[in-house]
Amino acid sequence: MPKNYIFIGAPGAGKGTMAELMIANYKPVHVSTGDLLRAEIKAGSTLGLEAKGFMDAGKLVPDEVVAGMVAKKLDTHEVKAQGFLLDGYPRTVRQAELLDAALAERGMNLDAVVLLEVGRELILQRLTARRLCKGCPAIYNVMFNRPKAEGKCDTCGGELYQRSDDTMETALKRWAVFEEQTSPLIELYAKKGVLVRVDGACAKEQNFLNLKKALKLA
Ligand code: AMP
Repeated sequence: MPKNYIFIGAPGAGKGTMAELMIANYKPVHVSTGDLLRAEIKAGSTLGLEAKGFMDAGKLVPDEVVAGMVAKKLDTHEVKAQGFLLDGYPRTVRQAELLDAALAERGMNLDAVVLLEVGRELILQRLTARRLCKGCPAIYNVMFNRPKAEGKCDTCGGELYQRSDDTMETALKRWAVFEEQTSPLIELYAKKGVLVRVDGACAKEQNFLNLKKALKLA
């Protein structure tokens, strides 16, 4: 049976990094609303243009917009066959309600909602030092997880760049948005009995071991 997971956590908690490792090892389909929105921006679509203003201000894109993108993904053959890993969705109580309805409509279950726990100071350090690869999904950090050659990806040699919303000013706003709008989901999923708390404050490899243990994965 394919497994369906949600990863929640503050921006910079390591959702993308852990998702990358989960996918390499267990093959669920990665559904990152942040990545989907950035792809829309890159394509210059109307949706992308609308989303960019919210994203650069560190605010959330309207619930119905992201819910629509996620629903489309849930209908793909890959998700049905391999399960999904929702990364960065839901982020509000409204989105959680929309997701519940979307899953019920499709007869899909949630196996676990993983909360990656990391404190505020470490989050801010991680966000402002984060670098992404232009050529592949690899994620680096110039403080804790440096590439071997400065500015170049170890895996594909691609150029590394900093996300436009990873500045200190926007990082602080995104943390506040997490506290206000996303943290109520922790209690909501705990009440449903699907919440799994994972310490995400260690190095990447240790965090992944913590995650596998919490999800009882071999
Ligand atoms: P992320 O890559 O997950 O850090 O998301 C980057 C930005 O995309 C966020 O700061 C939001 O502006 C937007 N975004 C991503 N996911 C969502 C979501 N589920 N709801 C609303 N906005 C989102």
